[in-house]
Amino acid sequence: MGVRYARFEDIKYAAMIKVFLMGGFLMTKVITKKIKCANCGTESEQMIVYSINYSLGNQEDNARLREHKQVCPNCNYTAPNIDFKIKALNVVPYKSVGDLTFGMKREEVRNIMGGYKEVPKSQFADNSSDSFNRLINCYYDKNNNLNGVVISNEINVTLDGKTILPISEDEFNKMFDDAILNYDGESITWVKSVGITTYNYDGEVDTLTIGTRDFFGKKQNNINWEDNKDEI
Ligand SMILES: [Zn+2]
Repeated sequence: MGVRYARFEDIKYAAMIKVFLMGGFLMTKVITKKIKCANCGTESEQMIVYSINYSLGNQEDNARLREHKQVCPNCNYTAPNIDFKIKALNVVPYKSVGDLTFGMKREEVRNIMGGYKEVPKSQFADNSSDSFNRLINCYYDKNNNLNGVVISNEINVTLDGKTILPISEDEFNKMFDDAILNYDGESITWVKSVGITTYNYDGEVDTLTIGTRDFFGKKQNNINWEDNKDEI
């Protein structure tokens, strides 16, 4: 079987991570709270930026809030959320990502994952999303039920005992008989059998998106692929 290709515009969710600041309206919500450093266990008072109203305040202040990082006073660990502990996750296609199960309520996801930052909805999404330490982004349907998760390649991801992140684009594509590659410039892979889209950069899988059938939508599920497309 040859390599299959499809057009990027049909693989909508790989593009979401790039446009997640477009549109949407959120209240600015910032609080100070005692949290435990995931690196050394020291508790300290930290500012948590849960959401930002980009239509209020000046751009510089909003950018500062968006870029805010917590610093552990004991070990100097610096991250958007220093209490974020996840380093590895196992995924079960169309079902779960680590301790998160698709269909789970947003509040439950936040309780499990800890400090979040709400990201305004993009033109492709039904709802705003939650970013956890900028390493994991959770997406929800209109009823606030979890339906998609984007994972950065700083997290180790396994599927059926095999590592699927971090991984090179080529290795990933070879793992699945039904991998469909984009031929419109951006390097993207869609694997329907496991409900995963990847965004690839510099020969490596950069982010991996896993979701429900509804999350990817009819268009992506019924994608028209072609064998051995010449125009890449
Ligand atoms: Zn620390």
